[in-house]
Formats: sequence, structure tokens, C-alpha cells
Amino acid sequence: MSALPLPRAGDPDARPPALRIAGLRRSYGRVVAVDGIDLELRPGEMLTLLGPSGCGKTTVLRLVAGLEPPDAGTIEIAGRRVAGPGGSVPPERRNVGMVFQDYALFPHLSVADNIGYGIRRDPDRAVRVAELLELVSLPDAGERMPHELSGGMQQRVAIARALAPRPDVILLDEPFSNLDAALRTQLRGDLREILRAAGASAVLVTHDQEEALTLGDRMAVMVRGRIEQCAPPEIVYGEPATPFVATFVGTANLVHADCRLGVGMTRLGPIRLVGPAARPQGGALAVIRPEHVELEEAADGPAEVDAWRVVRRRFTGSEILLEVAAPDGLRLWCAAGPHVRRLRIGDSVRVRLREVETVAFTPSRGIPADAEARAAAASAASPAKDNGPAGESDSVDDPAARVGAAPERDRHRRP
Ligand code: ATP
Repeated sequence: MSALPLPRAGDPDARPPALRIAGLRRSYGRVVAVDGIDLELRPGEMLTLLGPSGCGKTTVLRLVAGLEPPDAGTIEIAGRRVAGPGGSVPPERRNVGMVFQDYALFPHLSVADNIGYGIRRDPDRAVRVAELLELVSLPDAGERMPHELSGGMQQRVAIARALAPRPDVILLDEPFSNLDAALRTQLRGDLREILRAAGASAVLVTHDQEEALTLGDRMAVMVRGRIEQCAPPEIVYGEPATPFVATFVGTANLVHADCRLGVGMTRLGPIRLVGPAARPQGGALAVIRPEHVELEEAADGPAEVDAWRVVRRRFTGSEILLEVAAPDGLRLWCAAGPHVRRLRIGDSVRVRLREVETVAFTPSRGIPADAEARAAAASAASPAKDNGPAGESDSVDDPAARVGAAPERDRHRRP
């Protein structure tokens, strides 16, 4: 996990962290839901907590909100200890706002009364409610009832209600999962602006990597109750700390590399090694992203013997990814540039590695056992192997060429 810069004396933002969690643990019977988490949230920061289903994300939020007690560890909100060996502050006195995926509005209260619920005794309540209605772009909806609003509007009301008491931290648990794709994208952008305008500090839980990448100032990637990496999204994507992070966030090919003095030699060419992990020496698996690879249509057409072949195609609207297979079985997911977008399954291609700065992991760094086995098998025929993509594919596959792994994020799903 990356260290946070310490505030210096005289720093205008020398406020304590909005949230500080240390050594947090929580088990349910034999299930360890949260297994020793350390985390800090700076004032005004948006942190996204990403991980597969069942990894403990919601439990972290519930512990912070005070809805459950931790087994061990401490939680401080705005510099005040709210949970730990010294006792526990009840949820209503933690100054935390919560937004849930099902909005959880009071059905019998108007929009204005929902928003003002947490500040019922505040003499400036009406002014604050009007201000928040404006902030969430519902200036005229105060008198309406929740059931008269769309899902997106209801979620805006829920966000306004959470902001009303000016909480030190807002906790959002999958707030967009009940919305359709277009509305989700729009509300994501709106949420970021709303929280920035309010100067709020927030933790947003999601299992949607796009949401985590686009919304977080930093993102924490969680698996099996632990945080594997916490860093700005660009770093998490470009310099993943562990093989799990590499394959869960974005699409990653794991390719064998012989590493020496910060350079890895793969069968596709050399790579420069970067990243938070110690640079490996000797055999390792390098993370090759689709955009690291350039494709060219093979001049001799589909009959060419030593050419790579397109075996799968994934179209997302904004991008096309092609999975290509070498004659010896190595597979790579590659981004299809405009000149090769018309390629279809079965077409022959040439593959070229761009100048790449990336990370590589030695086997001791927790590479999934099956990935190593397949690396070894592929190395017997060639110095390389593949790991398949982290994303899903929707196209026809060629079983004869298939050596790829199950997507990493699926292997970590709750049974
Ligand atoms: P999802 O994305 O599916 O909501 P999550 O990452 O938020 O998952 P949690 O809901 O925090 O995961 O659950 C973590 C683990 O703890 C899971 O194995 C879950 O079954 C277990 N768990 C959570 N709450 C309880 C509970 N009240 N009683 C027993 N087990 C629980």
C-alpha cells in the first residue's frame, strides 16, 4: 500500500485524515471477512474500494459506520477514535453519512423531509435543504414523494440526505448498481461533482472496475479481506502491486520474462521493469496490457504457417480487443487499432511489442498456481505462456488453440 504524505507544520490542509483505519479485523464464525486492514482517507478525497464479491468491502463500510463492532483494530474519524480497545462510539454520533444501493428513502416523507431528516433540529434546516436540492439538480422536487421519482433521482435525494449534516465521511455502498448503464454513467459524473462541490470525503464500494478507476482519487483493491494495493488509479493499472491486481483491474496478459538489471526479455521483445515491487531477477511473469501490443495484418493471408491467428474478438462500443494465438499456443489480448479493426476470427496477424514499461512478478509474489503451471508448460515449447484476459469475451472461441486461464476476477468470486 502506498504511504500517504504526512502534513507539514503550516500546511493549510494539516487537518487529520477524514478516516484512519488500522489493523481492522472482523470474522463471522470461521469466515474472516476483514483480515487486518490499514487505510487512510484525506479530507476531501474520494477513495474507491474495489474487489470481487465477498471480499469484505461492505463489512469495512459497516465497521466504519458503527453498524458492527470490529474484533480488533482501530477506526478514527476526523481525528477522533470511534472504535478500538477504548470502546465504541454509536453510529449516530460518528458523523458519517451513508448511501446504499437501494436508496433507503423514507417512503412516507417528502423529498425535502427525507433530505432534512438528519438535521431536524437545525434552525437553518430549510435553507440547507434548498441548498442541497440545488446541489443535486432537483431544485423543484422538494414537495414530491420518493415513489414519484426515477431511480436516478431517488439516488440523488439519498446523496443529498447523506450530505445534509455535513458528515466527516460519506460511505457509499454500490450506489449505482440499481441503475441502468446510461444513468449509471451520468450519475457517476454527477456524484463526483456533487461531492467535490460539498468538499466531502468519501469511500465508495464497488465491484465495477470502471467505476473504481474513473471515480477514485485513489483506489484500494481488496481480496479475501485484505487490501492488495491502494494508489491512484493510473498507478494501480500501470504498476499493479500483485498478480491479482494486475489481472483484476483491466485486461492483462502474463508473459514469461527473463529479468536482469531492470529489463525483462520476453519472446516478443524486451520490456523495462517498473513498479512498487522489487524488480525480479531471473524467470518471472510480465504484465503485458493489450495496448502494449501492436497488430499488423499478415501479408500472406490466413494460410501463413508461423503467423498468429485471431481466436476471439471483444467489442465494447468504444474499443475492440482481439485475442490472438501463436502456433505454439501462446495467447495475447491486444487492442485493435483502426487499421486492423476489420480483422475477424481466423485471420492471420503479426504481433509486435511496443516500447513497454511494466511490472513482472516472480513466482513467490503470489502468482496463481495454475498460471505458473501453464507458464511452465508453455515454456517447454517456447520461452513464453499466456494467462488469458481479466475481462470477458463474447465471441466464438477456437478450443484447439485455447490455453487461457479463467478470468482472475471470476476465480475470486464467492461460491
Ligand atoms: P458483495 O460485493 O457481494 O456485496 P463484499 O465484498 O461486500 O461482497 P461482504 O458483504 O463484506 O463482502 O462479506 C464478506 C464475507 O463475510 C462474505 O464471505 C460474507 O458471506 C461474510 N459475511 C458478511 N456479513 C455476514 C454476516 N452478517 N454473517 C455471516 N457472514 C457474513
